[in-house]
Amino acid sequence: MISDDVIRAERKTQGLRIKRNNLLAALLSGSVLVWISLRYFPFSIAGILGGFVLGFFYANAFEYCLHRFVLHAGRGVFCEQHMVHHSTLSSPEAARYVNFSSNPLGVVALFFANGAPFLFLLWIFHNGWTAGVFASFTIYYIAFEEIHWRSHMGGWLPKWLRPAARHHLLHHAHDTGRFNVFLPIVDWLAGGFRLETRTSGDEAGK
Ligand SMILES: [Zn+2]
Ligand SMILES: [Zn+2]
Repeated sequence: MISDDVIRAERKTQGLRIKRNNLLAALLSGSVLVWISLRYFPFSIAGILGGFVLGFFYANAFEYCLHRFVLHAGRGVFCEQHMVHHSTLSSPEAARYVNFSSNPLGVVALFFANGAPFLFLLWIFHNGWTAGVFASFTIYYIAFEEIHWRSHMGGWLPKWLRPAARHHLLHHAHDTGRFNVFLPIVDWLAGGFRLETRTSGDEAGK
């Protein structure tokens, strides 16, 4: 019989290989999107910097919405896969299910599904900021994969990111909200909104 330690080591090797392939897929997809927007459309440095900031907030909101409304929808293939990540965390199989996608084509699909509306806007309006959005989205995705892996599997994280890892581990421990994985910006906004609706609901009930 194969021991848990052997399974754990094998799954970790497998998970690291998947993470590396996803990283390459993200770099390649992001580079293609940046290249298309710089090669075929006008751009400005100020626009790209603005797009970079926009892309960061877009990626954060996308992460929240995907995790909350798709991965925790209670049904569907993506939800089922995500529940495997939740249920295997303390098993020797955990590392196999920590990455966003077990196939790098899933990462390519993610990039082009998110990139399509921005490319459409670029095609219509010839705006000069789209390359910044794609660059930012790519960096965000790579950071998300790496931080998520290290939060679960261990590994060095800078001190200022440790509360971020805790934020995600609380999501796993209590399954009550906290859908951002490493920067809880939309969690914070949604929390404020929930508080406000609860307060106004209480006042209406008085
Ligand atoms: Zn989850
Ligand atoms: Zn997780």
